[in-house]
Amino acid sequence: MKQLPALLFCALFLASFAHAAGPIRVAILDGESAGPYHNWRLTTPVLKKELEETGLFEVTVITAPASGDDFSRFMPEFDHYRVIVMNYDAPGWPTGLRAQFEQYVSNGGGVVIVHAADNAFPDWPAYNLMAGIGGWRNRDEKAGPYWYWQDGKMVSDASPGKAGQHGVRLPFEITVRDSEHPIMKGLPLIWLHANDELYGALRGPGQNMTVLATAHSDLKNKGTGRNEPMLMVLRYGKGRIFHTTLGHDVFALSCAGFITTFQRGAEWAATGKVTQKVPADFPTAKTVSYRVDIAEMDPEFLNGASEIVETDQK
Ligand code: ZN
Repeated sequence: MKQLPALLFCALFLASFAHAAGPIRVAILDGESAGPYHNWRLTTPVLKKELEETGLFEVTVITAPASGDDFSRFMPEFDHYRVIVMNYDAPGWPTGLRAQFEQYVSNGGGVVIVHAADNAFPDWPAYNLMAGIGGWRNRDEKAGPYWYWQDGKMVSDASPGKAGQHGVRLPFEITVRDSEHPIMKGLPLIWLHANDELYGALRGPGQNMTVLATAHSDLKNKGTGRNEPMLMVLRYGKGRIFHTTLGHDVFALSCAGFITTFQRGAEWAATGKVTQKVPADFPTAKTVSYRVDIAEMDPEFLNGASEIVETDQK
């Protein structure tokens, strides 16, 4: 019976450890986009569902006031979460709010930047360090060089010019450039992403950035002719950032390749590890794979418009 207290202590320790290791708390931040084409009211529930389906995350949505509205009472408790998913594209934030976010990430908070969230905050240096690269909102050479993959590595290019462009939304090949990273481990080296905008000519500081996957931006589709970064990870202080340029609309977000890398990227940003297996419906080099239950979260999909609409929006 002498061992009982030790066993009891052990059990209590394990119980408290399990509690601490419970669901990963995530906040999806939304509330603004540069235009109606990034419909966060439609896409936030999609991102939320995709995270929740893993069983790993407990997801809260934080909706910021619109730009120009009163931010004085907008004080999210960033530290309450292990990851903030940015489904948000605004021109600026008040200084105090910026400082809080910077401190959260510096201290080890995770961030996931989805698609047009890399358009946000052109004048906030710390945010651009977190994203590595971004586009539009009048970014030019002052934002940093262009970054693209050439001769087996990422190169920077300081030539002047605007940042951000894409062609019409078509399926395109994603090429894995770091197959050992936990987010990418086990994925096919080339896979076909469902119809989406292929972001190109992004510029930024590109510091502490590892590009995990690129895509060739086809000159025939108003592209750059370069291999553009699509998925990347960064460090800012102790914080981990996963940045995916994919995900213009619900259909793009329904791609099993987007979903898998987003779910894994969120776990990695929170913990530095990935415990999720590659799903059986992951796309191949020749075949797009999207999930109908997600695609149907866009009412347009039901009448067939979403898949075939090809416009030149951001
Ligand atoms: Zn877009």
